[in-house]
Amino acid sequence: MQLYNTLTRQKELFTPLHAPTVGLYTCGPTVYHYAHIGNLRTYMFEDILRRVLQLNGYQVHHVMNITDVGHLTSDADSGEDKIEAGAKREQKTVWEIADFYTKAFQQDMADLNLLEPTVWCKATDHIQTQIDLIKILETKNFTYRTSDGIYFDTSQLSDYGKLARLDIAGLAEGVRVEMGDKKQPTDFALWKFSPANQQRQMEWASPWGNGFPGWHIECSAMSLHYLGDRFDIHCGGIDHIPVHHTNEIAQNEAALGHPTVHYWLHGEFLLTNDDRMGKSKNNFITLTTLKEKGYDPLVYRYVVLGAHYRSKLNFTYEALDSAANALTKLRHLINDLPEATEIDTMTMEQFTQAVSDDLDTPKALALLWTMVRSAMEPGKKLATLFAMDAVLGLHLQAYYQGQRTAQAEVAPEVIELVAAREAARAAAEWPTADRLRQQISDLGYQIEDTDIGPKLIKL
Ligand code: AMP
Ligand code: ZN
Repeated sequence: MQLYNTLTRQKELFTPLHAPTVGLYTCGPTVYHYAHIGNLRTYMFEDILRRVLQLNGYQVHHVMNITDVGHLTSDADSGEDKIEAGAKREQKTVWEIADFYTKAFQQDMADLNLLEPTVWCKATDHIQTQIDLIKILETKNFTYRTSDGIYFDTSQLSDYGKLARLDIAGLAEGVRVEMGDKKQPTDFALWKFSPANQQRQMEWASPWGNGFPGWHIECSAMSLHYLGDRFDIHCGGIDHIPVHHTNEIAQNEAALGHPTVHYWLHGEFLLTNDDRMGKSKNNFITLTTLKEKGYDPLVYRYVVLGAHYRSKLNFTYEALDSAANALTKLRHLINDLPEATEIDTMTMEQFTQAVSDDLDTPKALALLWTMVRSAMEPGKKLATLFAMDAVLGLHLQAYYQGQRTAQAEVAPEVIELVAAREAARAAAEWPTADRLRQQISDLGYQIEDTDIGPKLIKL
């Protein structure tokens, strides 16, 4: 397998540290609002990565965090905690907000057929682990105290910013970041103190005073806790490169004295009208909105599969409609195929090669359509499609089986109507045939005429 490593800016051969197990950490949602379909594009890319690893025979130990504290509205360690802001907005407790939006996110994941992580971990369940890591950084002189918290001193690390290739000197000159009492613009909070005049809903005692952990320390602490001091892959959206992941690397390497993550992978943005989709931009669309408009969430999955994860993808309803057509066509085509027999190894090899080349899903889809349209034996076609769907995740097998079951359960009355319609068609009695089609439709079935006879599709 080849994967593009943001750290080296090139595709590299993937070699896991402890084959056949692969340790994968994916930055999870901040649960203060619904995820938008841009966020979901990133989780989909990670799901495809996971499925491709599995296709290559690896067992993936996948850890995803839930950020339920410490993510501030500004990357510069100022502003409100997003969860507290959500609680104010909806007049609920922070715990209710976090719980509600975690469940909403998990529903989105299920709708998009994203595999559940092996471990879900909440920041608020790991406060001590985070405090322990800050203590190590303190012992090694990487921290300092300001009026509002304990900060990481980025000047203590000679290669700070290597992931993003940050121009630290340039940054220092053109400082626009809100500095507060920070020594360098790139320094960041490890622990923030609760404001003196205000009780936060979420706060904990620590060696430095009451407060809450920063967002970056959360991911460092939990990834090292669950995956060990060295692990294989860490992912997120590209906006995480210059700050969040840069700071995770700084914390990990300062604490342990060696690199901890082998491959850093980042997914590109989903855009609307050529602008990044973002919660703060008010241009975002949720999966629920798409469902309310009548789209099957898997249609969105199909749209995402059509673009490489490292290219920008502009979301349009036209693209969604054409994906809906493609998926419907694919479903109808598989409905016409008899039982799955054996996988066509050559086609499957080509498919595996495509997805193993830095997750080339557009090529994989093209291979799928070439096969579907080919003269390959139908049973083989179906078996190969199902094998491909282990990566594509379009629920093709479940759909196929659902249709078979529905057909097996068709009432005798419907079967008689179908036979009568066939007779009418054979006699070219078209008005009768049309009337019968309508009757069948009233009973909840769409009839489709195929080369091997009429097919019923449950409406
Ligand atoms: P958040 O819940 O804000 O931490 O974001 C969750 C994930 O979505 C992160 O990995 C972000 O990098 C990613 N993300 C945010 N906006 C977009 C977008 N427009 N397209 C793709 N991914 C995004
Ligand atoms: Zn993270």
